Amino acid sequence: TPLPDYLTEVLEVCGTDSSGELAAYIPELAAADPDRLALGLCTVDGTGYAVGDDAVRFSIQSISKPFAYALALADLGLDAVLAKVGVEPSGEAFNELSLEEDSGRPLNPMINAGAITVHALVGMDRVRRGFAAFAGRELAVDDEVSSSELATADRNRAIAYMLRNHGIVEDDPQEVVAGYTEQCSLLVDVADLAAMAATLANGGVQPVTGEEVVPRWVARQVLSVMATCGMYDAAGDWFTTVGIPAKSGVSGGLIGALPGRAGLAVFSPRLDQHGNSVRGVQVFERLSTDMGMHLMEVP
Ligand code: GLU
Repeated sequence: TPLPDYLTEVLEVCGTDSSGELAAYIPELAAADPDRLALGLCTVDGTGYAVGDDAVRFSIQSISKPFAYALALADLGLDAVLAKVGVEPSGEAFNELSLEEDSGRPLNPMINAGAITVHALVGMDRVRRGFAAFAGRELAVDDEVSSSELATADRNRAIAYMLRNHGIVEDDPQEVVAGYTEQCSLLVDVADLAAMAATLANGGVQPVTGEEVVPRWVARQVLSVMATCGMYDAAGDWFTTVGIPAKSGVSGGLIGALPGRAGLAVFSPRLDQHGNSVRGVQVFERLSTDMGMHLMEVP
């Protein structure tokens, strides 16, 4: 079977499951069409495929976290970033108000405390330019999603104040959260996300434009953190079953990066109890099995 036909078949099989719920805590996300389903794949030599509802754009949400982390590492170096944000899986929900006991550092850059800190390190201008380089095109902010989230972002504001209290963030917490919320509201489709993931899978070089977006060591660092912390409090379950570095977001996006091979992205808005896309997880389980993608599989 040609690859696009196979990918369409996978969507048809997984598309019958309508379990899960839309994210409700961001009003604008609760209004999304729950039945959308799309799959994108981009190989490290720059060949892209996208099937299903692949024209639909959605806010990137937490899938922005690994890419903002990559920019922080590239700009400031590993030690400066590690001084502010750790790399230990938290096993807690993404919006937990927790910091490491002695240092006051957020445990990792994939939970909100870490991502808000990373955003403060790089700023929104850098995020815009950097994400355009990862995706291979400029991304726009969805102002409706951004203002809708900001109106209800008290928990993230609490996290940002806590971070400033510990001296991890120095900027005004209100401004940092406004910037972080804009970062989460950048609009992408599955082809964009597949290209962004493929850039990490390709050692930091965007496979279509050929631009070195981040150095090779940065891609390794980011993929490692995705493998251990990328799937909220289901990271262990995910890595044992699917076995590839990944990141999910509350709008229903899910990316995976297979080092040296490809970037993959699924969009389907209904979420499981961990906040991961129900059909997104199923699509990845199927692809991993069919295509032998599990990184711990002995060849
Ligand atoms: N902007 C969302 C938040 O901070 C992102 C959450 C997510 O996708 O996990 O709550």
